[in-house]
Amino acid sequence: MAMPVRQTARLGGYLLKQKLLRKEKYPLLVELEPLFACNLKCAGCGKIAQPASLLKQRMPVEQAVGAIEESGAPMVSIAGGEPLMHPQIDEIVRQLLNRNKIVFLCTNAVLLPKHLHKFSPHRNFAWMVHLDGLRERHDESVCKEGVFDQAVASVKMAQNAGFRVMTNTTFFDTDSPQDVIDVLDYLNDDLKVDNMQISPGFAYEKAPDQEHWLGVEQTRELFAKAFADGRRKKWRLNHSPVFLDFLEGKHELACTAWGIPSYSLLRWQKPCYLLDDGYASTYRELVEDTDWDNYGRGRNPKCANCMAHCGYEPTAVLATMGSLRESIRAATGG
Ligand code: SF4
Ligand code: SF4
Repeated sequence: MAMPVRQTARLGGYLLKQKLLRKEKYPLLVELEPLFACNLKCAGCGKIAQPASLLKQRMPVEQAVGAIEESGAPMVSIAGGEPLMHPQIDEIVRQLLNRNKIVFLCTNAVLLPKHLHKFSPHRNFAWMVHLDGLRERHDESVCKEGVFDQAVASVKMAQNAGFRVMTNTTFFDTDSPQDVIDVLDYLNDDLKVDNMQISPGFAYEKAPDQEHWLGVEQTRELFAKAFADGRRKKWRLNHSPVFLDFLEGKHELACTAWGIPSYSLLRWQKPCYLLDDGYASTYRELVEDTDWDNYGRGRNPKCANCMAHCGYEPTAVLATMGSLRESIRAATGG
């Protein structure tokens, strides 16, 4: 099934405007990280290994909203850390929605029941719940028993309160094609979330677990088998068909990480939220001062195993919007 129509239409209008303005590099979505602290300690997390002094900090509302305004991005994905540990996260969301941004609030959902009353359903707002697999697999991924059940209960609570709920699932080399099928079937058919995002785990240098990252060929094999027999079409995946083709190895894409940049307490991260090659004060400075030709698979050893959406989904979206055939595929779900 296709990406949400409203999101696709909004993105299409934004891309047309950039074309008319003859802009070459611009953000489609900003990964906003207003804190690094978290209430969990997942083995694959590259964010919570920051120094204690940084883990204590929370980004002021004006700084968060100002950065998004300066970038001009139409969509914002708020992550961290755990955003619900930020005392003014509801105000950040409200102010972004007031500026007509599409906002995804990423959470492990453990604190969601305590904070749900601070938010209201909105056509441009969705919860993005982290669920890496079914019960045993997810609890193993987040290194804590009982979190899967808590997350599922939170999803149902948010759905019952009228919110859009999406999920984000990261796969590692311990996952089989059947694991991918089982969790996506569950999220799509049983939990009935609005859309699902998927990602091959990236080898963060700072993550405690350095053993279970997927290589490129493993990723392609995993998704090609999981997507086979028409399964891909029935899942409500929040990705363009071109990006899903890329994941299962049907074609190559170049990295365009300037399309999904990351803004955190350390400012704009070069070149993307996965690597750490310095910081820029503004999005404009990030675009102008980063040597983009130095990044992407085949260009930089640090990118060797990367098939992450922050680098390749913007390329896929641009390819989709630049082609009538791909636009029809995206609109009809491929
Ligand atoms: S829930 Fe997210 S931010 Fe928290 S430790 Fe796990 S991966 Fe990191
Ligand atoms: S290939 Fe991946 S890690 Fe490298 S710059 Fe692009 S998104 Fe970042």
